[in-house]
Formats: sequence, structure tokens, C-alpha cells
Amino acid sequence: MKTAGFALAATVLFMTPMAGASAAAAEAPFNFDRAPGRLPKNVVPLDYDIAVTPDVATRTFTGKESVSLQFRTATDKIVFNTLDLKLWNVRLDGHPVAGVDSDNAKQLTTLTLAAAAPAGIHKLTLSYSGVIQTRPQVLFVQPYAKVGGGQGVMLTTQMESTDARRMFPCWDEPAFRAKFRLTATVPADWATIGNMPVAKRVVHGKLATTTFERSPRIPSYLVEFTAGQLREVSAKSGKVSFGVWAVAGRESDGAVALANAQQILADYDRYFGYPYPLPKLDSIAIPGGFSGAMENWGAITYNDQLLLLSKDSSMSDRQDVYSTQAHEMAHQWNGDLVTMGWWDDLWLNESFASWMAAKETDLRNPSWKWWESEDVSKEDAMKADARVTSHPIQVHVTDELQAANAFDPTITYNKGEAVLRMLEAYLGPDTFRAGIRRYIKARAFSNATTADLWNGLSAASGQNIGRIAADWTEQAGFPLVSVTAHCEGGRRTLSLSQRRFFLTPPEDPKLEAVHWSVPLQIRAAPGEAPKAVLLTREGQQVAAGSCQEPLSVDAGAIGYYRVQYDPATLAINTRDFGELPNGDRIAMLDDQWALVQSRGAPLASYLALAERMGGDLDARAWQQITAALGTIEFDERGSAGHDAFAAYARSIIKPLEARLGWASRPGDTPNVQQLRRTVIGDLGAWGDPDVIAEARRRFAAFVRDRSAIAPDDQPMILGVVARYADAKTFDELHALAKQSSDEAEKGRLYRALALTRDPKLAAQAARIAIGPEIPPQLQMLRLRMFFTMSTERPKLAWATFRGNIGPLLSPFGSLAPLIEAQYVPQIFWDSLPPDQMEAWLKAHVPAEMGPQIAKGMEGARFQVAQKAQLVPEAQSYLAARASHS
Ligand SMILES: [Zn+2]
Repeated sequence: MKTAGFALAATVLFMTPMAGASAAAAEAPFNFDRAPGRLPKNVVPLDYDIAVTPDVATRTFTGKESVSLQFRTATDKIVFNTLDLKLWNVRLDGHPVAGVDSDNAKQLTTLTLAAAAPAGIHKLTLSYSGVIQTRPQVLFVQPYAKVGGGQGVMLTTQMESTDARRMFPCWDEPAFRAKFRLTATVPADWATIGNMPVAKRVVHGKLATTTFERSPRIPSYLVEFTAGQLREVSAKSGKVSFGVWAVAGRESDGAVALANAQQILADYDRYFGYPYPLPKLDSIAIPGGFSGAMENWGAITYNDQLLLLSKDSSMSDRQDVYSTQAHEMAHQWNGDLVTMGWWDDLWLNESFASWMAAKETDLRNPSWKWWESEDVSKEDAMKADARVTSHPIQVHVTDELQAANAFDPTITYNKGEAVLRMLEAYLGPDTFRAGIRRYIKARAFSNATTADLWNGLSAASGQNIGRIAADWTEQAGFPLVSVTAHCEGGRRTLSLSQRRFFLTPPEDPKLEAVHWSVPLQIRAAPGEAPKAVLLTREGQQVAAGSCQEPLSVDAGAIGYYRVQYDPATLAINTRDFGELPNGDRIAMLDDQWALVQSRGAPLASYLALAERMGGDLDARAWQQITAALGTIEFDERGSAGHDAFAAYARSIIKPLEARLGWASRPGDTPNVQQLRRTVIGDLGAWGDPDVIAEARRRFAAFVRDRSAIAPDDQPMILGVVARYADAKTFDELHALAKQSSDEAEKGRLYRALALTRDPKLAAQAARIAIGPEIPPQLQMLRLRMFFTMSTERPKLAWATFRGNIGPLLSPFGSLAPLIEAQYVPQIFWDSLPPDQMEAWLKAHVPAEMGPQIAKGMEGARFQVAQKAQLVPEAQSYLAARASHS
């Protein structure tokens, strides 16, 4: 599953809820009998036949189910999952059962038989009814504005993690794989999509009954069903039929996704050495309401903005579509073909899909420099993982119900992705792939634990990979590697040591005494290839070229660790900073900034690197710098030194504007275009009068002619104009937002409104964000507007958000408590004192979210403390600088 990234600081939110909080013990390979879970293993479902008839008008459905069961022992009890279902006519092998006890609190139904039935195959049949949801969970209705006018409604499903039990009685744990054959009766003018192709369709009056082919053995959370006035664009490639589905009138916007899907599937067939096993792969655009995307086998669902592209879509929209498809399609292997045995190994699904998606996106779109942009998500993970409240990638989950809200996407997705990339670089891509192929082949159509993965990689590499890798998946945090260079006869020898890195050093120093086997990539001179070194011992010595050359101990920014260089080496790296390879430089900027934040290095040491970037045009390095400068500029607001710091920040990036200009040039890579937008947008935010004037000129042209600003440039120009808008400009922006018929453009215009600095106009923007004019398929935009507003009007954003929290979070379904507990305090940290925020959260968020509140509050308090630290430090840096010049 993947969720829509929010605009702010690439905060990756909203993914599958899962996982608890204590360290996992080393695991054994998958074994069905030992797989955790609450359901007894003596009765195993083999084959479900499920027929549902939804009634959209009454928001209910009825169902009939027949399931073949294997009794592994004689028993008079059958236990399975149900929630909010009413069961009747329950029979085993045609005979009514003696008792049916459904317990909604436990989400279990227990059937009692009149007498024990013997071991062997039995058939359970039953009738039932349930509720169609209006939030994106289980079987839900999705309203939308139809192309050409009017309201439409469609049905679709979202089962992960534990909602299949609300649509049909089932053994709803991932180890209970079974075959599913689904039948559905819906209006005859509706299209129907399931995991498998349609086997049979019978029209009777105004209704039609569709039966899909029987699926292979899958876990219940991957079952999918969608129906509505949908159309597709389709293609056949090799043995697989591809379809991209959208609401009628938008299907042609699926053309790019259709081509992407064919390319990605062919690449994955080759990579995994195991061809995609289903006859078809549908991609379904859900019009809003549903966040992110879900990897249902053969029928992937997407928020429509992550699948459809119009002429008004931007490059970043295209990148979102490609990378999201690459993520969900990677799950067709890691997740669907091979499923984690229990939720504590969710990382086998999500880290893998994230890593594979980045690799594929980079492979097929080299000009995007995708791994450089993924550095943002790695930094997000390291920020969360540098706190005492962090937890390991593998977490212990005893009960899926309590686990449902205790999930940390930064760790499970982003850290896992980074750790896999580091391991791949250490083993070499060919050996790593050989290990993955062994793992997939060994566990196909079944389940796996982390131990199965290590076994595959160990067999392929001839090394005990589990011993190296378990440090990274079973321990929270990551190391700070300290590097001390010694010189003898001009030759350099490094002495290396490590301790756990914290942004706020813990009261108990024992927490720092954690060790990892660290796969380093050491580059001893800019032109040389990096050398892989495994750091295992304190004080380990490594030869590293000549003393006068710059040194990178995280070449290519591939490592999930930080590096602190001794002062002499840092001075050489600073001197030659402009000459280093992009990745090495990105890693040094990330590390030096983190050291400043943890008070392990002076701010001056970081700014010295930033000032040495010169005319370099690498977007990620500059984004790292403008984000850091932007943090200080924000913290300085309201203080006496603000304007001087803003002028300093502008002076660092102003030469780039002169060099890049405002207009895209032929041959500009997406990376350079991105850099141009970053530089101009930040200059505008930091008050550059020329940039503000130019943005206003361009906006005036845009009001007359909507093609005057390219979609990609709109966020930058509209953002500058909106920040300094007067009432007339605000009204113009607002009118454009209301008129726009393109969802992507509409979203850009409304988000710009949320940046308005004028207090009265900002209050108007807040009213718009909660008002009726936001269409139903853009529900999630409302929350985005408040998150955006928190950067310019933090108190107003918080007050309005707090007063409307229910409707603002409802589109996020079961993820709402997680967003509230963990992310809200880190977004609104500057809106009210931390103690008040904490008290409010404790009063509003379910008690079991305590660990998430702790994470969120640690992040909020860190930002408050950082502000108190950075403001005087920046001011004394500028004072010292002024006295030197
Ligand atoms: Zn995923």
C-alpha cells in the first residue's frame, strides 16, 4: 500500500496501519503452525465462494458464502473473523450448526457443532448481511462529480489490514491463504472489476450478476471488488491483459499509466525471474476519498490523482504516477505472490515495494535522478529514527486489532527502503538479485518471514547476511560513524568508531552504546570508485588514499548512517566541496546539518559547506540547503535578526536565479527545472522584491490566459503571489480555483490560497478550506490546506483545524488517529506550547495511541528547542561574518 505524500517537507503519511512497539526477537523461517495470530490453526479455509448483492440506496449488502474447510483434527468448534455482519442459515455439510456466537469486540465468530466433525474436508455455508461504508474502508461508496455534470456514485473496496471480515466471514490473517471466487449483483449499466477476469455475466432486468474466475491462493486482505459507471483503456502484452479504469469520460487520462504498467511488469518479470502469474492486471482510479493506492492482486486501486494524467498535469504528477505504479506493482511479488506470515514482518511487503519502486523509477527515468530525490524520504526516516521514541523495522504484533493504529510509515517504508539499498550496494546488485530470486521462488504462493529473506540472500552470497542485516531490522536507530584520519608519508589511514545517533542526546548515555555491522562505502578521492568496507570493530583501521584528497565515508549517499569527520578532514572536504560527486555532497550536507541540529557541530560548519556550492546545479543538494535555510528563516520570524538572515539566505541562492532564469530551456533536465522552481519559490518566500514583482507580472498574464504559466511552474509562482496577496489578488486566485475543472490545477490553486499572509485573507482561506465549495473527490485537499497554512499562519491554521478535526480527518479512515497523534503535533508545533498540545492530544486521541503521541510530541519539542538554539546561533554567525568583511 502506498499513500499520497503531503506537500510539506515530503512528510510521508498515511499508509497501512500496523505494528506495535517492542523489539522483535530473531525469527525462524515461515511455518504455518507457528505463525502468530488469534485464529486456531486446526480449521483451514481452502476455497471460498462469495456472492454479494449491494444496495447502494440503503447502504447495506447481503451475501451468501460457501467455503471448503480442511479440518486438520476432529473438532466441534469453528472460529473465524467477522465484524458487524449478521449471519443466518449457518450449516456445515448441509446440517444446521448448534450455535453461532458472533463477538464484535473480539471480531470473532465461533460456531458450535452438535457433535465433533472428523478430520477431513467439510463445507460451511451461510447467509449474511452487512453495511456499506462511506469512509474508505471495506466495501464503500465513493461519490464523485461526473464528467459533464451531475453526481455519480461507485462502489469499491479497501481491505488491508483487517477489514475483509466486514465484507464476508473469513479467516482474516495473512497466513490463511485460500482461493476466492467472487460473484456480485449490481446495476446492469455498471462495469465490475475483481482480482480475476470475469467468467460469466448474466443480465436480469435492471441488474446484472457477474462471477469472476477463481483466484489462486491469496490472503483475504488482497480481495478486491469495484463497480460503477467506469470505462477502461486496455492493451495486451505477452500473456497479460492490462486495463486502466476510470469514471466514464476520464478513461483516456489513463493512457500514460497503461504504458507504464506494461513496461514495469516486463521489467519485474525479468528482475524476479518469476513471471507475473495472473492473466490480467487492472489499475483502477478511485475519484478521491481514498488515499494512496492498494496492491490488490490483479486489481490495484489508486486515488485517481496517482493514476490519471491530463494535459494540465505537472512533472511531479507524472513522477507520482510512475513511482506509485512501480510500488504497487512490486507488491504483486513482494506482498501478493509472497506474503508476510504475520504483521510484524510488514516490512517485507512495504520496504521491498518502496525500494523496488525507487530502483525501477530510476532505471526508466534517468533524468529524474530518482535516488537523489529519494534522499528526502531517507532523511525523513532518519529524523524519526534519531529519537528515543523510535522503534525497529521489525516490531512485535500480538493482536492485529491493537496493532491497527500503531504503525510508523517512516520506519516501515522509508528506513526499510534505505536499508535494502545499502545491503544491495554491499552485496552487489547481481548477488542481491540472485538472493531475491531464490527467496521468491522458494516462497511463491505462500508466506515468509524475515529469516526466509536472509536465507535467500545468504545462499546467493555465501555470507551470513542475517548476522549483518538483523542489526538494522531488529534495532531502533542508526549509527553515527566517527572518522579520524592519520597521516604517514602522505598516506591516510582512517580510524573508525560508532555510537547511536540522537538528535536530542538521551539522559541515559547507555542508550548510545548500540552497535551495528555498518556497510560503508568509502571514496578516498573524487575520481575514484567507492570501496565497500564492513565496519564491525571499534577503532577499525582502513587505508584511504592520500591525506590531501577529500574523503567520503558515505559515497553516493547510499548509507543509512551519519558520518562525523575530524576537523582536518572536514576542512579539506569543505575546501573541495564544489568538486565532489553529487551523492557524496548530498550525504555531507545531510550529516552536517543533522550534527548541527544535535549540537554536535557549530552552524558555521554547515553554512561553510552551503557557501561552497557555487554555481553547481544539483537539485537535491540545493533543496537540502534551502530547507535548512528555510527552517532558520521560519524560526527567526518575529525576531530582530530575521531580515538580516533572510537577506543572507537570499544571497546564497540568488546567483542561481541569474544563471537559470525563469523560463525552461530546451535540454533542461527535470532536475534542473526542479532546481529553478525551488530557487525562485524560496527567493519569493524570503522576500526578494524582484522575484515578487516578476511573479505578479506572470500571474496577471495567467489570469488573462491560463496557459501563461506551465502546470509545473504554477505552485512556485502562485505560492509567491498568494503570500503577498491583497484582497483583489486573493479574489482572483479564489475565482480561478472555483472555475478550474481540472482536479490537479484546482488543488494547486486552493493550496496557494492557504499561503496568504494577510490575517483577514488567511481567515477567509481557512473558511474556504472547510466550506462547501471543495468538491467531494478533493476531500483530502482540506487537510492539505491547513498543513500548508501552518507554515504562514500557524495559530489560525491550528484553531480552524482543531475546530473541524472530525470532517477533516474522516477521509483518512482508520489512519485518522495515527495522523492526529503522531503528525499533528509536528505540523502545528509552533501554534501552541507543547504542554498544551500534549494535553489536548491526550484528551482527544484514543488511549492506545500513547506511543504515537510520545513520538509526535518528541518531534514537536525538538522543533521548539531547535528554534531556541538556531536563532541566536544564526545571529552570532551573521554578526561574526559582518565583522570579517
Ligand atoms: Zn505498499
